[in-house]
Amino acid sequence: MSENEQKDSPEQSSFRKYCRNWLSGHVPLPPAFRLPQSAMEIMTQEQMDYLCRWQKSAYDAGLVGCDYPGEYGGFGRTNCQRIANEEMHRAGTPYFPNVIALGMAAPTLFHHGSEELKKRFIPKILSGEEIWCQGFSEPDAGSDLANVQTFAEKKGDNWVINGQKIWTSLAMFASWMIILCRHDRSDKYKGLTYFIVPIKSALGKGVDVRPLIKMTGETGFNEVFFTDLEIPDSYRLDKVGNGWQVAMTTLLHERGAGPLITPTAGGQTSRSSETTYNAMTLVDLAKKSDRLGKTAADDPVIRDRIMSLVIRQRGFMESLRRSRVKGLADHPMRIPLQGKLVMSELVQDIAALALEIEGASATLFIADANAPAGGAWPLAYMNSFGGTIAAGTSEVQRNILGERVLGLAKSK
Ligand SMILES: Cc1cc2nc3c(=O)[nH]c(=O)nc-3n(C[C@H](O)[C@H](O)[C@H](O)COP(=O)(O)OP(=O)(O)OC[C@H]3O[C@@H](n4cnc5c(N)ncnc54)[C@H](O)[C@@H]3O)c2cc1C
Repeated sequence: MSENEQKDSPEQSSFRKYCRNWLSGHVPLPPAFRLPQSAMEIMTQEQMDYLCRWQKSAYDAGLVGCDYPGEYGGFGRTNCQRIANEEMHRAGTPYFPNVIALGMAAPTLFHHGSEELKKRFIPKILSGEEIWCQGFSEPDAGSDLANVQTFAEKKGDNWVINGQKIWTSLAMFASWMIILCRHDRSDKYKGLTYFIVPIKSALGKGVDVRPLIKMTGETGFNEVFFTDLEIPDSYRLDKVGNGWQVAMTTLLHERGAGPLITPTAGGQTSRSSETTYNAMTLVDLAKKSDRLGKTAADDPVIRDRIMSLVIRQRGFMESLRRSRVKGLADHPMRIPLQGKLVMSELVQDIAALALEIEGASATLFIADANAPAGGAWPLAYMNSFGGTIAAGTSEVQRNILGERVLGLAKSK
């Protein structure tokens, strides 16, 4: 019995048995096509359909939205989503495609949406029937998010939206977007209001989505243009002028601190050390890689470097466990706020060592039949840079930790 299982409450223990039993007969067969390394890189409708079918079947079985209230489509359990996540990982299931919705839109609606919006939207987020994207970044508003210029003008009972968002992951599949807009140009922070807007149903009627190509040659994120898109006032989250506060709720969840204030909506919503591309998979790679007539696993320097990454990964997992212990940290966000920074840099360092182990073969990419591990590691390395930028760059995360947690002087 694992350490986690020993600490299960009676409800968690019987739920774990249920999950294990259901998963023993319902993990989908691998598709005939390649799946991307994360939901943020889904490129084709075929990939999206396969992953949506999986999310829907897991939801129907009660493995998504476990801890969400029944009136919002959840199953009203207590601290059981983590159990479902552990069991899905153990069973080797695919990830869920609706990551932005599960990780950010659902909790933002949960805290700031009207009852009507929560009841209408959260169930279809949990089931994966409606995919969501996040419209925060703009060409001149990334780290300086409060500089967003996409303008929402009140016209009678409606709002008319004009402007441009950029780097919008999953927008090409999204039915809905959470969006931060400016309604008043005279005040940087109080001039912001937060809405939800339709994407798919408004394509060509006020919304235009244009995919951007990454250095991997793949897409994943997009530019989204709004031209006189009219939405009802009921699509506003919280009060006019409270957009910045609502955006902070979204970012808190995006950066890994959500579980402190909201039930987790669904599994595998963010980067975790339990991905396929973790430090332990380097051991396997090293055993299969030639190095001067032996394998890379026989090289003491490589062994040492793999071990130091395994230790960092283990330390990260233990820190996550500590963050669940109430009162352990003097600042409630001390550990959770480190999560995104520590994990994204660890993932990058793991992928970098994989490329060193592969040596010259690391130049063979995913389409090459001779590429070690199907070219997954060079792809993971290139994608890892997105991880250190998205949701706030590593520099910005260090500023936040320095200023808000350690109480250092504010950066200029
Ligand atoms: C893979 C990926 C997916 C994304 N998905 C989405 C999405 O779905 N929706 C969305 O809205 N956005 C998304 N983004 C955008 C992301 O949030 C921004 O790229 C990020 O916030 C940085 O903004 P920027 O690109 O404008 O860079 P800038 O803010 O222009 O930063 C440029 C450089 O300056 C540094 N810098 C800036 N300010 C400071 C400071 N105060 N102190 C120290 N250094 C600083 C940064 O660290 C960076 O190195 C995504 C990005 C990536 C890479």
